[in-house]
Amino acid sequence: MRHFAVVGSGPAGFYTAEALEKAYGDAARIDILDRYPVPYGLIRFGVAPDHQSLKAVSKRYDKVAESAGVDFIGNVTVGRDVSVAELLDLYDAVILAIGAPRDRKLGIPGEELPGVVGSAEFVGWYNGHPDFAELDPPLDGTHAAVIGNGNVALDCARILSKTRHEFEGSDIVGHALEALDRSAIRTVTILGRRGPHQIAMTPKELGELGHLEATLPLVDLSDFPPREADEALEPGQRKSVAILREFNDIRANKPKSMIFDFFAKPLRIEGDGKAERIIVERTELDEKGGARGTGETYEVPASLVITAIGYWTPPIDGVAYDERGTRFLNDNGKIADRLYAVGWARRGPTGTIGTNRPDGYEVADRIAAELPPEGESDRPGAEGLKRLLDSRRVMATDYDDWRKIEETETARARPGSPREKFVRHEEWLQTLGR
Ligand code: NAP
Repeated sequence: MRHFAVVGSGPAGFYTAEALEKAYGDAARIDILDRYPVPYGLIRFGVAPDHQSLKAVSKRYDKVAESAGVDFIGNVTVGRDVSVAELLDLYDAVILAIGAPRDRKLGIPGEELPGVVGSAEFVGWYNGHPDFAELDPPLDGTHAAVIGNGNVALDCARILSKTRHEFEGSDIVGHALEALDRSAIRTVTILGRRGPHQIAMTPKELGELGHLEATLPLVDLSDFPPREADEALEPGQRKSVAILREFNDIRANKPKSMIFDFFAKPLRIEGDGKAERIIVERTELDEKGGARGTGETYEVPASLVITAIGYWTPPIDGVAYDERGTRFLNDNGKIADRLYAVGWARRGPTGTIGTNRPDGYEVADRIAAELPPEGESDRPGAEGLKRLLDSRRVMATDYDDWRKIEETETARARPGSPREKFVRHEEWLQTLGR
């Protein structure tokens, strides 16, 4: 019997557990650890609450968690409650699937002003992440800005732009729904440092914006290259650019707008003790396709500024770390003997949920080649971990505990919503009577 610890219960962790289970059958026991009492990581805390069809992938992870060889062990923080070195003593292999939960910084003056928040914080706030329950983003001004031209920027801009009615069927948390309902924001400007051909947004996510109830997406066609130039784009990007161009043809009167401001590089954020405006420099593409400043500057008013420019993976004590790549130093998923990384902690923060499947399977195949299923282990696995956690008075949760939390969240749901998530750590534990 082999014993594996997968650290992190988001998509990367679950696909890896599924792959290990397929590779080893009953010859392995796989524990999926998470710092929170509840599983699914990015699916619960990152995927937009109005994208329920994407969240439905957790049903597949449920099947993995329910299978005989797999256990969920929640409420355990690796690096605090137990070290990676201790896990390597207890398990045949340890797979780090902790994602990239931290916001990249712009590194410009004014970024520390109240009113400037990272997308991980803002997304966590509306998705019930306990670290961001108290974020209270300022929604009392009329203008907000989102910096970045990826899908996360679109998620943030869309959530700021929807009406209460448009959140029906979503699992946005109650405190965010109420705050957004009272929001005074009428204009959301999305700032991209390069042009429409360089966006990292995908067609489905862009397409939704043309149908928002109260918000009109606006583009300036003079930012676009001649239409013929779209032919050279790969089909997905061509479609995205076509959708952006079509925004210009929408004829409707709507009270709110979402402005796509391209070739716009933030230089600094200004305001009297809080964010009030962004000073932006107009850019053009340089020879390598990068953004080169033109010297022309202008102001974009914004009392809420959301930076959505990517994420990074925090280091863990004793684990080799790539400072430039801001993820674990690894060779195709291998960090060190019996220690591996998968998902964003391996590759960096790009790709969809589905990208994690081949990623997890590849690393599981590598593990199976290095630790053949027929080999015997003298490591204690979960039994040893539980003894250690008990001795440290760590109150670990299991899959049945998660089910109880899920049932309670479903029972608390407001009409039309699949659940009302708990947003504080202690609420999870109180539900379990601890
Ligand atoms: P992303 O796709 O890498 O986009 C990051 C954006 O930030 C880029 O437009 C980038 O511009 C810009 N940026 C980076 N540094 C900047 C700076 N200093 N100043 C101004 N702009 C800067 O990252 P993401 O949006 O965080 O998304 C992460 C991954 O999750 C992506 O693969 C995304 O597709 C995926 N995702 C998918 C969905 C969905 O399928 N519904 C939803 C959310 C996220 P440059 O190109 O100029 O560097």
